[in-house]
Amino acid sequence: MCEELERILFIEIENDSVIVVSTHGIHGPHPVSLFLCEIYEKLRNKFEYGKDERAFFNYEDPHGAWILLKDYFQKTNFLKNTTLQDFEEYRSRYEIASEFKKGESARLYEIFSPLEAIAFKTVSKKIEQYRILDKETIDNTAFYPDIFHYDSCRTMIDFVFALVHYLVFNNYKITQCNHCGHLFAVKSLKEKYCNRNSPFTEYEDYSCKEAVKQITDTFEKRRKNEYDRLRKRAKEYGINSKHEKIWLDFCSMCDEYKDRIKKGASVELLMEYKAFLYDSSNVRPKYARIKDY
Ligand SMILES: [Zn+2]
Repeated sequence: MCEELERILFIEIENDSVIVVSTHGIHGPHPVSLFLCEIYEKLRNKFEYGKDERAFFNYEDPHGAWILLKDYFQKTNFLKNTTLQDFEEYRSRYEIASEFKKGESARLYEIFSPLEAIAFKTVSKKIEQYRILDKETIDNTAFYPDIFHYDSCRTMIDFVFALVHYLVFNNYKITQCNHCGHLFAVKSLKEKYCNRNSPFTEYEDYSCKEAVKQITDTFEKRRKNEYDRLRKRAKEYGINSKHEKIWLDFCSMCDEYKDRIKKGASVELLMEYKAFLYDSSNVRPKYARIKDY
């Protein structure tokens, strides 16, 4: 097995989408909120948990990338306590290469093969020198202020730290999705749920964020139906009856679940609430028809 190591030629990030142009082709677009987090989790799976991970291990020095990325995330509490200056100090201490340009792109990867793009860029440097002198031309030419372009990604360390730079530059922090449990990057820590597909059965087509809303809406309808049914029966049997107790217990359990779900709707917690609403001893079985009761 002697696979040639993949080398990254450049990375371009626009509108929070990452395109990686490497000697093996063009990868992406990847959402910036997930991309580095997915790489981090894969590195952790491989180097901390010894799991067999293949993605991203084609680049030079993935282990070095893991050591430094883990260290930087620990030191900065997953980018919650960092600044561009910290980043810069860290980068130069470990000699991580960084050649970063903002606002320049010819979207070459859409037209050329990666190697042709590199050749073209060399020529186009002359054109850009000319453009610097000619403000009017620049103003009238398509110019992309939101594009971040990283050239020097010789190793996987440079590559992951280009992504770290983008996140720090744009004030992202990394946090854990309260639904699926995976890491994701956010600008506001008020965001609790990521944009991955939900792992919740029958809601896999929704993102975690949408799935939580859909699932809790469905549960709420079910809760109201059961609430009405149990309350009606409690009234029929009167105060201190067994049925009144069943109704009151149902209410307090639901309140407790709803309270916990509001704080963080993990898949496990939603499964537990679902089992309570649909399968516990005092609720109507899932497929029973209302008229039978
Ligand atoms: Zn998630």
